Formats: sequence, structure tokens, C-alpha cells
Amino acid sequence: MAEQHGRSRSRLQALDAAHHLHPFTDSQALHQKGTRIIEKGEGVYLWDADGNRILDGMAGLWCVNLGYGREELIRAAERQLRQLPYYNLFFQTTHPQATELAATLATLLPGDMQHLFFTGSGSECNDTVVRMVRHYWATQGRPERKVIISRHNAYHGSTLAGAALGGMKPMHAQGGLPLPDIVHIDQPYHFGEGQGRDEHEFGLERARQLERKILELGPERVAAFIGEPIQGAGGVIIPPASYWPEIKRICRQYDILLVVDEVICGFGRTGHWFASEYYDLQPDLLCMAKGITSGYMPLGAVAVGGRVAAGLIGGGEFFHGFTYSGHPVACAVALANIAVMQAENIVERVHTDTGPYLQRAWASLGEHPLVGETRGLGLVAALELVADRQSKRRFASGLGAGLVCREHSFDLGLVMRAVGDTMIISPPLVITRAEIDELVGKARQALDLTYQTLM
Ligand code: PLP
Repeated sequence: MAEQHGRSRSRLQALDAAHHLHPFTDSQALHQKGTRIIEKGEGVYLWDADGNRILDGMAGLWCVNLGYGREELIRAAERQLRQLPYYNLFFQTTHPQATELAATLATLLPGDMQHLFFTGSGSECNDTVVRMVRHYWATQGRPERKVIISRHNAYHGSTLAGAALGGMKPMHAQGGLPLPDIVHIDQPYHFGEGQGRDEHEFGLERARQLERKILELGPERVAAFIGEPIQGAGGVIIPPASYWPEIKRICRQYDILLVVDEVICGFGRTGHWFASEYYDLQPDLLCMAKGITSGYMPLGAVAVGGRVAAGLIGGGEFFHGFTYSGHPVACAVALANIAVMQAENIVERVHTDTGPYLQRAWASLGEHPLVGETRGLGLVAALELVADRQSKRRFASGLGAGLVCREHSFDLGLVMRAVGDTMIISPPLVITRAEIDELVGKARQALDLTYQTLM
């Protein structure tokens, strides 16, 4: 049996090396090591081509919120494929699934967000944001309001506009990014950039960089500020409590639209349907994807608040849309996903039970000699690997401590992700207390092995 697994794995690895270019992957490094092949998922677990069971501590890419193998979602997709596998939303047409989903989302969203524009992904949401924001200001007779302010180390996707809005240096280095009229300020990353400084003051200072940037550019040129409530791919960066209220104040004072990217935070990750509730953000635009279908189908949506919706509705045709905007199968799966989340009180459970349980257990890793900080909210968490706990001195960057820890973790049967030397987790929202114990136990073992490897 093991031999059979090995043969099938080797064959796929050879084909993969010969024909497949992977996203976010150094191909040469991959070919040396051989691609990891995931074949099956059930609940919070994955199985690889060698038959190993692995706890998926990242819910795929922060998306498989209901876990793998949910019959309700599979049946919804199958029903919709038979009924109407495709139709579009262009040219005065809809299908019941898109309209029902828009109406359902409107009941879950914070503030006055009553309108939805569907896309096929988070990146497409952010491309849509750039076009929508600029079009909105043009409808208000202010076409010079074009500049969108984002943050260094933000992640808003991989399309041209998504990567430009994002603040990932290696992405900007490839392909001449960012685009004109997209600028960045510093992130509210206290552990990484505010060591030794009062957290509250640091949060205010980072938020006030927005005000300085607006004044530097001229408020009449600035269209919007965009941010993830908690930066995910940047390393699960939870801003100081002083940060978002100050950002809100500045956006209001200068009449700048507030765009919140909830592609990771949305759909219960933080113990709220949207993290905008937790931070009381009242955004003008809100991006969602990933958890909207628990990753079973590609789908994204931009929620639009009253003011922008009125501008768009009154502004003539918006020349924008995707063939797969609001794909009917994806919308059917999203409706089933939301129905299951409601029937099983998933968001409530994360808020009151599994979220606090995970955070308590995760915080106990803070006593490990390799850990300089733990942090988290709901079912997303991070820890910082350090060479010296007392001074919080980091490892030399060439050492790749995070990657060492990630590989140990995988070998132990847990997917943890490394962002530099920050280890992050974001498990399926259906994870049980017993599975959380397993996750944290394996993370601790991975830290022990990393210690043995590096110290
Ligand atoms: N926005 C955020 C906050 C994300 O984390 C991601 C993906 O990780 C995206 C946008 C891009 O989404 P997609 O990969 O679906 O295009």
C-alpha cells in the first residue's frame, strides 16, 4: 500500500515538475524538494498522497471555514449545476441565487451596507474597489479624487490593482508596482516595528501617518483609505486598540472613503460575522471572499454603503464586471454555507467558546523559550519566533527560522504558515476543543523541534 502511494506520488511529482507553474512558489526550490500532494479532506483534516493525516491549521488559505466534506455545500452545488450551471448578471439580468445572496448578505453586514457587487475572488474585489471608488468620486463631480492610501505589508490580492494596493515589497519589485495614485503608509505592527514603545501611542502614531499623507498629497486628491481590520498574510497583525478609531476620525474629517478588506476577517473568523463590527468601523466599502463559500467555490463580493451606492446608482452605467461575477453555483454554495453557519451558530461558537478556548491555549505557547509574543482574536492567531525571549531579539534573517518551524509542523501533521519568523494559524471555524488541543500540542512540539534544530 505504502509502495503504491509512493509510486503515485512520484508520478504526480514528475508531471508537476514538468508542466505546472505554482502560485507564490520558487520553482527550483520546489523541484528539489518535490511537490506536496494533498488528496483528500474531511472535517479539519487533510490526507496527503502518502496517506498521512494532517490537521489543517490554515483552513486551506484562510477559507475552508466549515471544514472539508460538508454535504450541504456539495448538494447545493450539485443541485445548482443541474438547474442552471451558468448565467451572467450583465445587461439587466440576474439569477435567483445572486439576488437571494445579495439580500441575505445585506442582513448580515454592518451599518448601511445594503448593496452588493459580485466578483470571482478577493483580488477582483479590490480591483473593483479601485474602479468603484474613482467612479464614485467622478459621479460627485470630483474626478481629481483618485489617490488610494494603503499600508506597507498589507495584502489585497495578486491582480495588478490588488498587488498595487497591497504593500508587499517582493510583489512590488516584480512588474513595476505600485500603480500611479496608490500610496502606502506604515503598518500598525507593534511587535515588529514598535518594540519598546507604548502600544497605545504607537497605534495613534501609525494612524496619524494617514493624516500626514492626506495633507502631503492634498485632501482634494485623496479618494479612499483601504485596510484589513487584522492584516492576515502580513502576519496576523492585530492593531493596537487606539488605531482604528483614529483612522475612522481621519477619514471622516477629510471626507475620505473607508474601504475595509475582510477577505480573511469576514464570515466569523474573529467571532463576528465581520471584524468591522468588532472594531466598529462603519466602512463605505467592504470586500469579502474566501469564507463566503468556505472556499468550496470561487466567489467574492464588494459590499457598498448607502452613500457610495447612491452615487453609483445615480451615476449611469458602471463599465465593470466579470464573466464569473456571482457565478450561480458559487452563490448557491454561499447561501448553503451561510444557512449552515446560522443553523449551527458557528459565529457565536467562535465568539464565546472555541475562540476564547484557542486563544487561552495559544497564549500558553508564550512561555516557550523561542516565543517572543503570542496574539490572536477568535480563530486566528500568531506567534513570534525569537532567538532571545528576554530581549525579544529576532533570529538572523538568513536562518529561515519560520520555515524550519513550518516544516517540523507539517511533518508532525499540522499545517502552520510562516510569514518570516511569525507563525500563524487560522483553522476551520468548526474546529472542536479536542482538535484545538491537538493543534496547540503539535505547535508546541514543532517549537521544541525548531529549538533543537536552531539552538
Ligand atoms: N484580500 C485579502 C485580505 C486577502 O488575504 C486575500 C488573499 O489571501 C485577497 C484579498 C485576495 O484574494 P484572492 O486570492 O481570492 O484573489
